[in-house]
Amino acid sequence: MHTKIFSATPIGIHAHLVEVEVDLSFGLINFFIVGLPDTAIKESRQRIQTALKNSGIKLPEKKITVNLAPASLKKEGTLFDLPIAIGILQACKYLQMDANFLEETLFIGELSLDGSIKSINGALPIAYDAHKLNKKRIILPEQNAHEAALIGSIEVIGVKNLVELIFYLRKEQPMTPTLTDFHSYIAASQATDLDFSDVKGQQYAKRALQIAAAGRHNILFAGPPGSGKTMLAKRLPTIMPNMTFDESVATSKVYSISGKLNKEPLVTQRPFRNPHHTISQAGLIGGGTFPKPGEVSLAHNGILFLDEFTEFKRDTLEALRQPLENRMVEIARVQQSISFPASFLLVAALNPCPCGYLGDAQKACCCSPMQLQKYKDKLSGPLLDRIDIKVTVSAVSYEDAQAKKTVDAISSASLKEGVNKALAMQMIRFGTENKTNSMMSATDVELYCKLTPPAEQLLKNAFTKLSMSMRGYHKTLKVARTIADIEHAELIDVKHIQEAIIYKS
Ligand SMILES: [Zn+2]
Repeated sequence: MHTKIFSATPIGIHAHLVEVEVDLSFGLINFFIVGLPDTAIKESRQRIQTALKNSGIKLPEKKITVNLAPASLKKEGTLFDLPIAIGILQACKYLQMDANFLEETLFIGELSLDGSIKSINGALPIAYDAHKLNKKRIILPEQNAHEAALIGSIEVIGVKNLVELIFYLRKEQPMTPTLTDFHSYIAASQATDLDFSDVKGQQYAKRALQIAAAGRHNILFAGPPGSGKTMLAKRLPTIMPNMTFDESVATSKVYSISGKLNKEPLVTQRPFRNPHHTISQAGLIGGGTFPKPGEVSLAHNGILFLDEFTEFKRDTLEALRQPLENRMVEIARVQQSISFPASFLLVAALNPCPCGYLGDAQKACCCSPMQLQKYKDKLSGPLLDRIDIKVTVSAVSYEDAQAKKTVDAISSASLKEGVNKALAMQMIRFGTENKTNSMMSATDVELYCKLTPPAEQLLKNAFTKLSMSMRGYHKTLKVARTIADIEHAELIDVKHIQEAIIYKS
């Protein structure tokens, strides 16, 4: 008596097929599982045995051998509880699923001791790839049914407990597949109550954020404590375009694996992640025995906000260079290397000096020149090279603080209009929405950053006067390109260059 059930496990953000083979034979009554790490096997065996007993089923008095193949694949235990239990019931003919049904169906789920089926991490990437694995149906915990159903390419059966599932599999009680309409779901869940009009004053910083969003330029804020850097950064997602279905799925996969979907089937708003500066390198970049995504991946298609940028450990910041460059994270392991997506906009914030008041109009800085130098040295050159826009945020003035919201009219909607205009220009320029001005190579810059003669003269003067590096020169052009794009201007003009130079210091 032998049977084979299909299951799957996420590796990185992709699903891999796992065959659950169950064999019943005469011999000493016993229950073996092979193909899982030792500790997981012990726990799994106990959960399955107890869950079956509490669902009114006694294990067959035979020698039960379960094999999870391929053995070489690293597996985490709990989501195989359900396929193993179903495999045992099929092998002892308690269930009689036909060969086609078995071939077409994926089972995933963790069992509770009382026989209920508990939600698992990683259901979304498995459902997403199920079609590619030649499956037509996925049977999984009820709590995971909505995230899986949003994919739309396979039949999704969400189950509460073993008894309910057994009735269904014995064709004694039909079950309705879960259906979720993505478009109405996403429309209903994209509203946010944050708006740039909540931030008083700071026109200059808001403009810099508009440019950052329009060309996906990484940005650095320097400003005294309490100047509203966090408040500004938090509102950046409100001026970025709504997430597309593909973006939403890609980001949600990361959240699904991390168990962070929080009862929402999908992430539909651009994520805003702001890890504390004490975070470990693995926490920020990703890692662990079973590699888990880090903050850079949780910020995929959104914002990574690093406040008190200089307080992060130096090697933690250095590790940011790879994802900033490649828009993904590679984690090397003995058996296989695992990758997670990590395309985010970096917003870094810092105090201008250790005391926080360098250059402040109201309060004097009390730092020594040596302290200032040490502070400056903390920032690595290569990392700063990946930040196109640097902007100083000043403390809010008394007049601005007193201003009524209606007077300070810069709202998210008006900023977003410019962002959308610029993105449309870039879409035409690069022929894809995945490339933006910040990603231009030196050749691209030459090709796409055409200047009017006066603008060219201005840049030439600035180049010598500010002793710009070649890299600095390219950055100025990229930012100027975005500023011109916001206005829908083909040629970069004097005012665009002038403004771009402001963001260099
Ligand atoms: Zn100071």
